[in-house]
Amino acid sequence: MSKPPAEELREIAGKVRASLESLRELGVHHVDARWPAAKASARPGARPTLLQVREELGECTRCKLHSKRTQIVFGVGNPKAELVFVGEAPGADEDAQGEPFVGRAGQLLTKIIEAMGLKREDVYICNILKCRPPNNRTPESDEILACQPFLLKQLQAIQPKFICALGGPATQTLLQTKEGITKLRGRFHDFHGIPLLPTFHPAYLLRNPSEKKTVWEDMKLLLREMGKPVPR
Ligand code: URA
Repeated sequence: MSKPPAEELREIAGKVRASLESLRELGVHHVDARWPAAKASARPGARPTLLQVREELGECTRCKLHSKRTQIVFGVGNPKAELVFVGEAPGADEDAQGEPFVGRAGQLLTKIIEAMGLKREDVYICNILKCRPPNNRTPESDEILACQPFLLKQLQAIQPKFICALGGPATQTLLQTKEGITKLRGRFHDFHGIPLLPTFHPAYLLRNPSEKKTVWEDMKLLLREMGKPVPR
């Protein structure tokens, strides 16, 4: 059954507000809302470098996760990457080594990247949270709120052509939705003009290996859209 128009309007207004707030975090202060050429135009000079974003993050104490972390896990890879993978949060191995996706799930992500005919150094890899949640629990909304501006600035610094969101929390944060990953994956969504493809998180694949073929289909779709050769 469809929702009452007032409720639908309220939802749309909420999404627009959230979107404008994240754009403001990106330094975008003017939005040309004319259809079909609705495009956000950033102020000249508003694009930061990754180094500036890292410096601004500093030895962050903006949320409660700082007290238990070993170190901040900012991101790794090509600062001019065409493709950025966004995961959830560092785990124990990442917290120890200071690099995202280096544990078991990370090794699987590396395999996926290599199966795509790419190298880890070609892409950029980061998370919605830069600090490890205790016992690898799901990120909480205050932590996401505190960390999100830095993820958005990382993306603004890199200006990738494509984003691959790994798992529900990354996808829901970037797309500002509560819709589940199973419904969202496998097709492109718009992230401020950048095509974003959600897929299952590699840690989920470790628990559900039969879904590896689903993720591989998603990666082939991504490669096709990127104009890259698609391995069989
Ligand atoms: N899971 C994530 O989401 N990110 C990492 O860096 C490691 C595991």
